[in-house]
Amino acid sequence: MTSIEHNLQQVRQRISAAATQCGRDPQEITLLAVSKTKPASAVAEAAAVGQRCFGENYVQEGVDKIQQLADPDLVWHFIGPLQSNKSRLVAENFDWCHTVDRLRIATRLNEQRPERAGPLNVLIQVNISDEQSKSGVTLAELPALAQAVAQLPRLRLRGLMAIPAPETAYERQLAVCQQMAAAFQQLQHDYPEVDTLSLGMSDDMDAAIAAGSTMVRIGTAIFGARDYGSAANHNN
Ligand SMILES: *Cc1c(COP(=O)(O)O)cnc(C)c1O
Repeated sequence: MTSIEHNLQQVRQRISAAATQCGRDPQEITLLAVSKTKPASAVAEAAAVGQRCFGENYVQEGVDKIQQLADPDLVWHFIGPLQSNKSRLVAENFDWCHTVDRLRIATRLNEQRPERAGPLNVLIQVNISDEQSKSGVTLAELPALAQAVAQLPRLRLRGLMAIPAPETAYERQLAVCQQMAAAFQQLQHDYPEVDTLSLGMSDDMDAAIAAGSTMVRIGTAIFGARDYGSAANHNN
């Protein structure tokens, strides 16, 4: 067994254990394998043992891998900060975008999504920890953006995404994740197509799953540590 295969098994077991612990069906939680900075060969290795969903943070790097692998069974999620001048590449190549946080980006993605592709699945990023530096809308801004996004025909509003501030205590992780889950439930009530809460990384996965996350984003635990030297050279 390769280490990627082994790591994937371990991560899937962690997801199952966390789900079972709080009485949820593990099938409700999608594992998004975050492959940023890793070569296409690592993605191919994970795909060969059944992993389907991959997350990329850097537009051009992601597009290169999507085109290199050209595997119609893979589902590609853009999870990095999105600049307007890169929106076309996301609209034309990815299946999902998790980081919609302003109408201008949503409008561009809608205009640039090719007709031959289905609507682009989008999540609205929420700045749940209210940090000045992070992207995402506040909970107060969410309803207006959701209403505008839901009207764009080439986009499909699927739910919410958040990157909570790092927090070591489980109870505090849970409190933040529950705030996101409440916003998600309200959104589902308003838009019945909404089905995805992208929440939880290696360190807060258990709290995220307990709160109701439907998609966890895991990189290092699957592919190993990233080489930050090379990551720093990306300019998205
Ligand atoms: C990098 C990244 C992840 C995965 O982080 P790891 O620490 O490698 O598991 C998850 N979500 C987002 C938005 C990321 O940028």
